[in-house]
Amino acid sequence: MNPVELDAGMTRTADGELLLAGVPLAELAEQLGTPLYCYNAEVIDQRLVQLQQALAQLPHQINYAIKANSNLAILARFARRGVGADIVSGGEMLRALAAGFPPGRIVFSGAGKTDEELVAALTCGVGQISVESLSELHRLAVLSDNRPNDVPIGLRINPDVTVDTHPYISTGHGGLKFGIPIDQLDDALRVIDAAPALQLNALAVHLGSQLLSADPYSTALDTLLPLLEHVREARHRPTVLGLGGGLGIRYHNENPLTPAEWVAPLQQRLHQSDCSLHLEPGRFLVGNAGVLLARVIHRKYAGGREIVVVDAAMNDLIRPALYQAWHEIVPVSDPDRSPVDTDVVGPVCETGDHFALGRPLPLVQPGELIALLGAGAYGFSMSSNYNSRARAAEVLVERGRWGVIRPRERLTDLFNSEVKQPFPDDLP
Ligand SMILES: *Cc1c(COP(=O)(O)O)cnc(C)c1O
Repeated sequence: MNPVELDAGMTRTADGELLLAGVPLAELAEQLGTPLYCYNAEVIDQRLVQLQQALAQLPHQINYAIKANSNLAILARFARRGVGADIVSGGEMLRALAAGFPPGRIVFSGAGKTDEELVAALTCGVGQISVESLSELHRLAVLSDNRPNDVPIGLRINPDVTVDTHPYISTGHGGLKFGIPIDQLDDALRVIDAAPALQLNALAVHLGSQLLSADPYSTALDTLLPLLEHVREARHRPTVLGLGGGLGIRYHNENPLTPAEWVAPLQQRLHQSDCSLHLEPGRFLVGNAGVLLARVIHRKYAGGREIVVVDAAMNDLIRPALYQAWHEIVPVSDPDRSPVDTDVVGPVCETGDHFALGRPLPLVQPGELIALLGAGAYGFSMSSNYNSRARAAEVLVERGRWGVIRPRERLTDLFNSEVKQPFPDDLP
């Protein structure tokens, strides 16, 4: 077993059959078809406990960033364990409420909240709205006027920290759409002062995703703490420091920090800040827990390359196409065959529709199953119907049992609501 397989909580039987939480993946594929997202609930629970234990010495709140994997079963599991939700749209708010998160444990982030979304958040009484621009703050001041209750807000500061990750998942440096530039903080405080309903609850950052070092957090904290002093001097009483999400995981050969290693260099300063620490992890909690099961459709040899065409594609898992992301790929049976360099591609009509190029893999044959690992975060939640492909089914496994948490879409559902002839006078 390689470390990524172990991170997913996988084992193999003596004859080489892959199990997830004790359930044979081949059985799941047989029963439910492929492509199939399988999540190991035990791994999700372990990750949460790890994080909670690392933070035990600090007042804190974990708000799961639900965009990472927003299936109701996953959300409800976190809600039952007292975790809050970090949301970025009105749709995610409805999901979070449907899953059972109390409104007071919902934090609404995002650079482009519409009036409609802000009003919905005010009406349901979310625990915090994280404001990302002066423009948004002005809208919120107007919309919250004459509301009976205080509106707790956070200011998401852009600390201008550069992080070592893919540029598409880096969010904390200057000139991006995310957060309020520091030199606009005083303007923001003036808007809040003039809007009696708005209550400055938190200063927060979110630096990016898949971060493998505590340094950017430490740098951001160095920026946040003086700002905290500054807003306190301006007679605001924030009680929360938010450090966002971003904790990285192992996809290949990364060496991610444990939560304890991550918090150690921050602990002292956080303690002295007299604030509660809020974190918004997504990937860390669910990323390793998921695998995408796919079946080999064809094998071909072309231009000197061994190509395996599988029944999952970029519409199911877009991370390789979007971020050149690496997902470990393993055969579900008989892993010990000698490897050959293989391109693993999907059926979608895009050259970018590949999961791996030149990857050493056994000569998997049509009909065989492969598992793409590390697919629990930003997998299904980023999937689409491109090429009129039905989205995959999702199944949760735990201690040898499994339950479908989203059935496979039906092909007719993809176009049922479309209007074939909007103009009745058109030629038939
Ligand atoms: C996406 C996002 C997160 C979660 O990031 P991960 O890397 O999955 O932990 C947290 N906070 C905000 C504001 C986000 O947009």
